[in-house]
Amino acid sequence: MAVADTIMKFHPTIRLHGRWHRTNSAIITSHNVFSDVASRLCVAALPKACSRHNCPAQPHAITDALKSNKGRGDLSVILLLAHPSHAAAAGCAVARAFPRYALKRERAAAANVDVYMGCDDTEALRQIGLIAEGIQTCAELVDTPCNILNVPEYVRRVQELVSGLPNVTIRVISGEDLEKEGLRGIYGVGKAAVGPPAMVVLSYTLPGGAVGKPVVWVGKGIVYDTGGLSIKSKDGMPGMKTDMGGSAAVLCAFVAAVKRGGLNRPLSAILCMAENSVSAAATRPDDIHVMYSGKTVEINNTDAEGRLVLADGVAWAAKQLQPAVIVDMATLTGAQGVATGHRHAAMYCNNEKLEAAAQARRQCGDLTFPVPYAPEFFAAEFASAVADMKNSVACRSNAQVSCAAQFIGNHLEPFFEAGGAWLHIDMAAPSHQGPRATGYGVALLCQLLDELPAAGL
Ligand SMILES: [Zn+2]
Repeated sequence: MAVADTIMKFHPTIRLHGRWHRTNSAIITSHNVFSDVASRLCVAALPKACSRHNCPAQPHAITDALKSNKGRGDLSVILLLAHPSHAAAAGCAVARAFPRYALKRERAAAANVDVYMGCDDTEALRQIGLIAEGIQTCAELVDTPCNILNVPEYVRRVQELVSGLPNVTIRVISGEDLEKEGLRGIYGVGKAAVGPPAMVVLSYTLPGGAVGKPVVWVGKGIVYDTGGLSIKSKDGMPGMKTDMGGSAAVLCAFVAAVKRGGLNRPLSAILCMAENSVSAAATRPDDIHVMYSGKTVEINNTDAEGRLVLADGVAWAAKQLQPAVIVDMATLTGAQGVATGHRHAAMYCNNEKLEAAAQARRQCGDLTFPVPYAPEFFAAEFASAVADMKNSVACRSNAQVSCAAQFIGNHLEPFFEAGGAWLHIDMAAPSHQGPRATGYGVALLCQLLDELPAAGL
């Protein structure tokens, strides 16, 4: 009997509702609160202190309170918001507390989660619901191990998720076609795996044709990262199924953004998928790849693979789609957690207004903080005697998050010359909390999209 037949797969459904009760400044979670006899009641108050780099709605505290509730059966959550503007962050925080993926035989804690928001705006509730659904789907993909979610299966799930979306096209470039297209960064990382690498391009076009320059999101989709021939240690490798978290966020944000409706410009999502594996076909240290940008890269560390797939993704986006804005999202460096912590993703951005818009979006609960943007200080780290650059830095204590990002930026020169705005988001640490994915990035990308016109982008 197949493993999948013997277990009970658990899908908690988050349902958002309007006003139920009127009071303020606390969240109350209760089991069976609407049945005649309430079997359990759990009350949680949010912390009083909330610093200026945190989200005012304190979604982390909502998620933590709900995760600590160990009851079984359906669950009702009543969110008593201190301010109506907290609705999106609070609703998303509930979604983060209920990861879907498990292959456990035992029944999970809750079947359905009803959330009462104290909000009369049904359209706002619908939009929050779509983002919450995206957060859960994203976390489900990230939590799924690579023996189930390899690249071909990931491509299939993408096709399933976008099928039926209006005005959306999908293009899949996979295996040796990547090499023919010049996408040798992605091909070089993924060619050793049994499942061939792929770049998936999702594009939304306006029904009446293009209006304005597109926004393009690019996500790192390493379905497993062994490190390649520069192999990780036995303690460093577990958890590397999550190295596709950036692409999962980009995918689920794209689906939510299209389902929300009201898009007034073209939007594309590019998912750079590969399994960084080991075989006789694996890329070796010392190999040189000619990237999509035309630049050459001497590989000195096969475990610095995310930047290779992203460099191809952003360069392809810039040339083929002529966007005004490129945002890439990736679990790129362990250094990110050291630099900006487990809650804030690190941002590296060539455009002050775009950076400010992204940081302001902490209101959605996906926190960010900038790292220095100064390419002239970082170029020397990648100096190579035989190629345009190496793929890994000489000095690991020199602004490592910025340097890793700048490697990607090195492949965007024509885009920068044309005035393009680029934001790189390294979300290696906030993409998970303990052993569970958080769905980080879905809310941030959706809300940042709404901010771009005000930022002049
Ligand atoms: Zn790696």
